[in-house]
Amino acid sequence: VVEPPFHPCPGAAPQAVFWIRVALDVPLLDVFDYRSPAAVPVGSRVIVPFGRRRLVGIVVATPAEPAIAPEQIKDVDQVLDDTPPMPADWLRMASFAAQYYQRPIGEVMLPALPPSLRKVSAYQGKRSAGGPVKRLDRRARVPAPIMPADCVPALNAEQTAAADAIAALQGHKTILLYGVTGSGKTEVYLHAAQAALARGRQVLFLVPEINLTPQLEQSLRARLAGLAGPQTLAIMHSGLADGERLQAWLSVQRGEARILLGTRLAIFAPMPDLGLIIVDEEHDTSYKQQDGLRYSARDLAVWRARDRNVPVVLGSATPSLESWSHAQRGHYQRYTLARRARDVELPKVRLVDTRRLAMQEGFSPQLVTALGERLERGEQALIFLNRRGYAPVLNCASCGWVSNCPRCTAYTVLHRAGARRNHLQCHHCGYQARVPRACPDCGDQDLKPMGRGTQRVEEHLAELFPAARIARIDADSTRLKGSAAALFAQVHAGEVDLLVGTQMVAKGHDFANLGLVGVLNADAMLFAQDFRAPERLFAQLMQVAGRAGRHAEGGEVIIQTDYPEQAVYQALLKHDYPGFAQYGLSEREAVGLPPYAHQALLTAEARELATALDFLAHARALLGEYPDSFPTACSITVYDPVPLRVVRVANIERAQLLVESSNRPALQAFLTAWSYALGDIARRFRVRYNLEVDPLEI
Ligand code: ADP
Ligand code: ZN
Ligand code: ZN
Repeated sequence: VVEPPFHPCPGAAPQAVFWIRVALDVPLLDVFDYRSPAAVPVGSRVIVPFGRRRLVGIVVATPAEPAIAPEQIKDVDQVLDDTPPMPADWLRMASFAAQYYQRPIGEVMLPALPPSLRKVSAYQGKRSAGGPVKRLDRRARVPAPIMPADCVPALNAEQTAAADAIAALQGHKTILLYGVTGSGKTEVYLHAAQAALARGRQVLFLVPEINLTPQLEQSLRARLAGLAGPQTLAIMHSGLADGERLQAWLSVQRGEARILLGTRLAIFAPMPDLGLIIVDEEHDTSYKQQDGLRYSARDLAVWRARDRNVPVVLGSATPSLESWSHAQRGHYQRYTLARRARDVELPKVRLVDTRRLAMQEGFSPQLVTALGERLERGEQALIFLNRRGYAPVLNCASCGWVSNCPRCTAYTVLHRAGARRNHLQCHHCGYQARVPRACPDCGDQDLKPMGRGTQRVEEHLAELFPAARIARIDADSTRLKGSAAALFAQVHAGEVDLLVGTQMVAKGHDFANLGLVGVLNADAMLFAQDFRAPERLFAQLMQVAGRAGRHAEGGEVIIQTDYPEQAVYQALLKHDYPGFAQYGLSEREAVGLPPYAHQALLTAEARELATALDFLAHARALLGEYPDSFPTACSITVYDPVPLRVVRVANIERAQLLVESSNRPALQAFLTAWSYALGDIARRFRVRYNLEVDPLEI
């Protein structure tokens, strides 16, 4: 409860004044000093006046002397005590993230809170305690749950070795659980989690996308049900309503929820009894936030586990090359699950060389035959194609006109299914238009869709197999809340024979009756400029291949390609992730790419490309102008500014500048000095810029 503001009366003895330093989510400067009539613990949330506004902030320090003249300092408005102060380890992690990712601390801390805890409107008009959080009694700690033994499969030797080792860990260790698809990694996570719960600790379980893994949520609930009540498990992801997210946050902060299952943002949840972190599919790019604070939840998980002196398990069938190289060097402890847990072989991979084949709507005769055979046997089959829509571009054969987005340097994609039939859509900016009746340039009426997306594949499958029940799962068909879950439920219930999908279908699902996976157009990713493209392609194909034949023998994967001799495909044939990783790492080492170098990417956005490039050139020139400010610059490489591949999005032009060093501390020191200077030139050039550390795509 806040005391009324202090008014000194003449003659009275001077009363104590407390200075508090508050982190606010405002650009530029981010910590501000305020005066308080009473001591305020560090980590407290407060409401303070800021210009004409009032803002929620977090107290990060209580300095003995303020940083500016006391008479310029305003009084704190309100100390919010509806939640306990943010704990010290949370403040440490936020500070680390701010420093590592070169962001102001306020822009890290406040966005990490659930919206209801950082919106001043929730507290408007209430000067005393109270607000959005209803006080609940702290519930008694739940005793360690013991699992009913009958529903748990007996672990095999490989699983046991991994699970026992993790359970026996006392302090921090990073475990890389490398297990082929279907090897039963989930079972290992569950055992490790059980052990942590039994010790009275909380478990943080991170997954790339929660809506796609309802099975995991079910298993977690089933294993813990009846033992600790429904509150034991909290779920956290960006799709939750504000109130739900707040409840999840509070229940873990109070220690009521013992397991937090969540997406990347859950890494910022305060967990007083944290005893284990699990990062499933650790290679997944969804762990990287792509705007605002561009953090990697996987990397922060490793940092947090070390800071809290607890184990962290990174699991994958295709670990990131970063994690794999850590394991190779002995920084991480690796456990391998080399075989599938159920008594089935990995699916057989077949490369269909499409160079000299008569293809029909993107399908080779081999794939069509194989699909027919699976249907005949009553099995399901999946066609994987990482491109949604009907066709990626519309084209006029007589004059060469193509459907371009007026606001982006990108084609508009033809969509034929869904709410808006027959329209062109830009996947970069969301622009939509009707399909023109005739070519806008020459008037020819014969406009042709070029290439194919999931909708066109679905259409063709329906022609090929009129009796089959076909479902399409992509971002378009699952736009409505709950529709993805409903579609997947249909697949699991056997109500679907043929499934067409994008990467959404590749992840995590344990399909019981899926015998065949066909991959169309994988080559599109093969020659992307990004040096991580082969790694991503390999991971994606391994994942989707791993959906085939999980419960019964005889699973098959058909990959259509013009380049069957490529290393990615050859490694896939043999399910040889270690071979692929070794090859990939040696290539990267030879040319000095991550993980053998560390990178940061400065991106600039402006109305004119020239402005963005000019800004970057000036940012680069700072190095030469002020050598004293950048003592580390000798070990840093700063490349030339270049336009982004999709240079214009929504009428904003974009360019980037890559910074690289083999020495991470040197790079960090450089970035810190540099980022101070960048703000000034950005204002001069009127550009928006973003400095990203460890960029995933360059
Ligand atoms: P991963 O996550 O490694 O791809 P899952 O954890 O989904 O694999 O397990 C694959 C399948 O094997 C699941 O159906 C699971 O129930 C089953 N399974 C896991 N461990 C065992 C075991 N020890 N014995 C029998 N089946 C198991
Ligand atoms: Zn034309
Ligand atoms: Zn566009």
